[in-house]
Amino acid sequence: MSVILVYVEANDGTVTAASLETLSGARQLADAAGGSVEALILAADPAPLSKQVVGADRILEVAHPALAAYLPEAHQAVLVETVKARKPDLLLLANSYVGLDLAASTAIATDRPVVSYCMAVALAGDVLTTTNQVYGGKIEAVAETRLPAVAAVNPGTFKSDATAKPGVETLRLEAPAALGSLASSFVEALKEESGDVDITQQERLVSVGRGIGEADNIALAQALAEALGAVVSASRPVVDAGWMPKSRQVGKSGHKVKPKLYVAVGISGAPEHLEGMRDAGFIVAINQDAKAPIFDVAHIGTTCDLFDLLPALTERLNTR
Ligand code: FAD
Repeated sequence: MSVILVYVEANDGTVTAASLETLSGARQLADAAGGSVEALILAADPAPLSKQVVGADRILEVAHPALAAYLPEAHQAVLVETVKARKPDLLLLANSYVGLDLAASTAIATDRPVVSYCMAVALAGDVLTTTNQVYGGKIEAVAETRLPAVAAVNPGTFKSDATAKPGVETLRLEAPAALGSLASSFVEALKEESGDVDITQQERLVSVGRGIGEADNIALAQALAEALGAVVSASRPVVDAGWMPKSRQVGKSGHKVKPKLYVAVGISGAPEHLEGMRDAGFIVAINQDAKAPIFDVAHIGTTCDLFDLLPALTERLNTR
């Protein structure tokens, strides 16, 4: 019987969508292997977060003021102690900045192998089989890892399951003494632009790249997005130029997205961009350069000039 421990990540009192997906994935793996799922919540007051957790057999809460916001030293100390004490066969985390940070440090401190950027996860006996993005998404590697292990799962790999049962049992664990003598303390979280959309949760994205030329031209993509019921996202140069907020950036140093439809407008398809969108359900590439790598991952594509195509496409969609 395998026990899967899920580290539950939260922002501003809400369990992240990626963590709910990871819990759902853990549930599926545990059900297939005849195991159980434990969800670990670290917070100043874990109770409101525990109510949001579904799909776990047991919720483990650790309450301490030092856990109010993500503080690597504090969260790592508790996670390492919990893993050492409960000895789960598999520690699962979302492949977020926090998840990657904790996965690596906890694996080292507990002497376990770690796999990250997992796009597919399966358990058979004491072998964990994962498909992982490596070399910045240029290659997908299948890895077999012997349990006990640590795995960080890409957002979008599993679907969250709102119908799953809430945690059956809640245990309050004692906070480790180390939390009383930390060398670091939390000062401030710098927030992304408020009121902006979460591109990782959109079903349709129209993404603009440097080919859009200048900020004012993004209106063309916005009009197409509205006709499609989509949201506009961007490649890094567009964000670096200040034409779109960072919260809209797709790619290695932006967000990983998995919409049903991804329209790449004037995007070349550099590996760092592909890493963030190659798992989209249907990819449409609009790029004048027939040799652009975006066409390697696109389901359909055109070498039209985007300045001709976007207005025509938008008009056609609006007159359907
Ligand atoms: P370009 O590569 O300049 O491509 C523009 C495309 O537009 C060209 O292919 C051109 O043919 C086409 N085009 C031009 N005019 C037209 C027209 N009129 N009609 C149709 N097509 C046209 N990039 C990201 O996107 N996201 C990341 O998160 C990211 N993280 C990075 C992290 C690191 C550590 C590094 C080193 C790089 C990262 N990059 C990231 C940058 C990445 O390497 C590329 O530089 C970037 O993705 C290129 O963006 P682009 O495709 O918009 O621009």
